Amino acid sequence: MKIFIDPGHGGTDSGAVGQNGTYESNVVLEVAMNLKKLLENNGHVAKCSRERDESVGLSERAAMANAWGADLFVSVHANSASDAAAHGTETYCYPGAAAAKERAASVQRSLVAYLGRADRGVKTANFAVLRETAMPAILVELAFLSNPTEEALLADAAFRQRCAAAIAAGIAGEAAEPAEDGPQTAMRLDGVWVQQMEPAGFDFRVCDVKKREVGEVNYFNGGFFTDDGAGHTIPVGNLACGGEVIAQAKDNPGWINVANHDLSTIVVRYDGSVELVKTRDLGQISGLKCAVSGIPIIVGGKYVPREEILAEGYFGNELYDTWHGFLGIRDGKLVYAAAKCAFADMCWILVALGVYNAIKLDGGGSFILRNGKELAGTSENRQIHNVGIWKG
Ligand SMILES: [Zn+2]
Repeated sequence: MKIFIDPGHGGTDSGAVGQNGTYESNVVLEVAMNLKKLLENNGHVAKCSRERDESVGLSERAAMANAWGADLFVSVHANSASDAAAHGTETYCYPGAAAAKERAASVQRSLVAYLGRADRGVKTANFAVLRETAMPAILVELAFLSNPTEEALLADAAFRQRCAAAIAAGIAGEAAEPAEDGPQTAMRLDGVWVQQMEPAGFDFRVCDVKKREVGEVNYFNGGFFTDDGAGHTIPVGNLACGGEVIAQAKDNPGWINVANHDLSTIVVRYDGSVELVKTRDLGQISGLKCAVSGIPIIVGGKYVPREEILAEGYFGNELYDTWHGFLGIRDGKLVYAAAKCAFADMCWILVALGVYNAIKLDGGGSFILRNGKELAGTSENRQIHNVGIWKG
């Protein structure tokens, strides 16, 4: 999908300004840039009306989206009111615009669930950017800069990243309330790939090449990574291969969100044992052969609630309905399960496979599973950092 993101205000127009000097134009620009990255990571094409602090007219914003041929227009704002007590999140669409209203409802639901602010609902308004755009268009008001509590939140980089994650999840139509989306009571197992692997024949390998150019017979996209801004990838969280620690949470750069958190980590020892532990320091694990951290999905047969996932430093946006890879333990062996599924289905799929301890690895647009030939993979050929490899 082609998504046009419109960070409100900018340049000579700062938009709302909080009591502690937080500018709406700056807040929404950062949310928009984070959102652009998240959408691109999930296979969308995204464009912003501005990428710096500059003035752009309202009609010009709509015209840019129209000329570009966007499928969806998302304007990002922070609210303001004369009453400092006013607070909460609201989303706008143009009166009578049915498709936009549906999007607005999904994004609003997601924002409320992710941000935990009061739900002011979906509203309609005759805003120029909603009126003059030729595609479904919505405008989000994240929270109130005029409210001291919400200004402090909007001034926080982690909260702004969460805003972006919430909008992205809402666009993806992650309709369930994230805070309460436990397992469904009935589901169909369909299109789930399962690879069982002997610990002795398993390892990770750092590759830092495009995912279809790894050059192994059997592999899957491994642990989380990010780009270093210079054309290479760097690992996020814990990673060890061949007995060597490649990265660990305690040494992650501070800007990485899981830095210095105890991360759910699958550990394989040279004696052939495998275990799911929580650690920020792989150096403490004796006999370590390889290890990778990921989002805990099921631990001891129990579903891991979203709060616990967020507590490890994850944003929650890693849990879209897209291709996911899970690494788990079953009867002392490793199991990699790959499925296109939503968060609510993940635990159930693993339970159905008899996997009672598992983490989610990197997936989304970077997902690939090869077993002699490519069994499943998202269409892009993105650079990935590391792969799980096995013999047999
Ligand atoms: Zn505004």
